[in-house]
Amino acid sequence: MSYTKHIVIIGGGFCGTMTAVNLIRDAKSPLKITIINAGAPFILGVAFKSYSSKHLLNVAANNMSAYPEDPMHFTKWVKAREEYKEFETDLLAKTFLPRNLFGEYLQHIWDTTLGTKRNDVDVEILEEYVTNLEFMQNNSVKVILQNGGSVIANYIVLATGNSLPRNPQITNQDYFSSVTYFRNPWHPASVSTLNQTGDVLIIGNGLTMVDTVMGLIEKGFKNKIHSISANGFGVLPHRHFGIQYTGLVKELQTRFELYKLVGIVNKHIKKVRKLGVSAGPVIDSLRPYSQRIWESLSLDEKKKFLSRLRHLWGVARHRLPVFIFDIIQKLRIEGQLVVHEGTIINITETDQLANVTFFNSKKKHEETLTVQRVINCTGPESSIYKTLNPLLRKLAEKKIISSDPLELGINIDVKTYNIINAEGEKINSVYTLGNNLKGQLWETVAVPELRLQAQQLSKILLEVCAETKLKVPS
Ligand SMILES: Cc1cc2nc3c(=O)[nH]c(=O)nc-3n(C[C@H](O)[C@H](O)[C@H](O)COP(=O)(O)OP(=O)(O)OC[C@H]3O[C@@H](n4cnc5c(N)ncnc54)[C@H](O)[C@@H]3O)c2cc1C
Repeated sequence: MSYTKHIVIIGGGFCGTMTAVNLIRDAKSPLKITIINAGAPFILGVAFKSYSSKHLLNVAANNMSAYPEDPMHFTKWVKAREEYKEFETDLLAKTFLPRNLFGEYLQHIWDTTLGTKRNDVDVEILEEYVTNLEFMQNNSVKVILQNGGSVIANYIVLATGNSLPRNPQITNQDYFSSVTYFRNPWHPASVSTLNQTGDVLIIGNGLTMVDTVMGLIEKGFKNKIHSISANGFGVLPHRHFGIQYTGLVKELQTRFELYKLVGIVNKHIKKVRKLGVSAGPVIDSLRPYSQRIWESLSLDEKKKFLSRLRHLWGVARHRLPVFIFDIIQKLRIEGQLVVHEGTIINITETDQLANVTFFNSKKKHEETLTVQRVINCTGPESSIYKTLNPLLRKLAEKKIISSDPLELGINIDVKTYNIINAEGEKINSVYTLGNNLKGQLWETVAVPELRLQAQQLSKILLEVCAETKLKVPS
């Protein structure tokens, strides 16, 4: 007798949705899938439902297909739309399209998948927070919801995605409850209801800072926008997009030593610069190897990378479409955007204004800025001990999930996506993917990696469902 297996996916952003899409498409026997999502819109997550149509994908269309085996799937879907019909497919493939358009593409995939699913594949969506997991005698797992309810499943997928950024280290912790502080830079409120009499400070100088600047300008904000980070402005444009450089990969070994690798990369960057080509194509050529490189580095090398090279790697890897870069440069030249290199020491609030004291590392002295708003654009928190996600904190506290030594994510068995508990044991009923794998894979944030993970994980889940004879308790 065969029983319907029940898979609960916690988190309904790109990873959760695409895991479900692959499960529904490939299921050969009865299956129940429940996606439990709250906090960001189902299917779109934090990335693909933006408050601004000016927010663009940072990966070109030809690398944004939801299916690894069909790289042009997204481009072809775009080309079929009335507003893009006049453009050649090759041109569309190389462009950076709006993030909201990608959201519509994911919605289309979801609707099509549901429209063609088998009758014995049952799909349920719950809009609720998951706060805990309890393991039951019969190998099933009780998923505890914030509303007091629960769901029982055979397998769990943690697709929890992007957590809110970490608060800056300042002495006045009370500041974080101030109305002038915006910890969620992806929420439309972060750029809304500003008055025209005060400046704004953005913490962070990466791609989220650029999105926030674009959002503020779109809202008609005319005052100064300050931004601050330890290294100053850290975003480069895609200057030589489309050039495929092959010289570097020929020299890659199977055991990568960090400093030898840095030497080889620098040599190739110098070489292409002789032709007036930027470092971009050299760095891009490493992308298919970056997970393998990270896995082969020793802990000591990983620590060195994080302390000395992380910033440079981020600058080289996460680049901007040239015309957005030009807008940012223009704002800097005109003086509306002022970039500071330094570290925030403290923030206090008086009369609904934030007084931010920071050490200016260029000028080597303390300065104070008074602003009407502070927006945290430092990027998602990756530590399971510091995240605001109640589920991950609870699972870490119960030692069901464990962190890598650098607190970048959750320990897993990279071959099966199963989580590893604090005792080093594999938990066969719980899987994870996406950002949570950063400690073990490093590059695991963008669609080209995530689509593959979603596909591999769904294959594994369908295999284990076929092997086990577990009954879903009702
Ligand atoms: C602003 C932004 C722009 C990006 N742009 C690009 C791009 O252009 N190209 C690209 O390739 N990648 C981009 N990325 C990377 C992006 O993170 C991934 O591409 C992808 O969106 C991540 O999907 P996810 O499902 O892992 O996470 P998320 O999109 O964060 O979705 C996770 C979902 O799970 C929910 N959740 C978490 N915990 C719980 C819980 N306990 N209970 C219930 N629900 C829960 C969350 O609230 C959220 O809805 C971008 C990322 C960001 C943040």
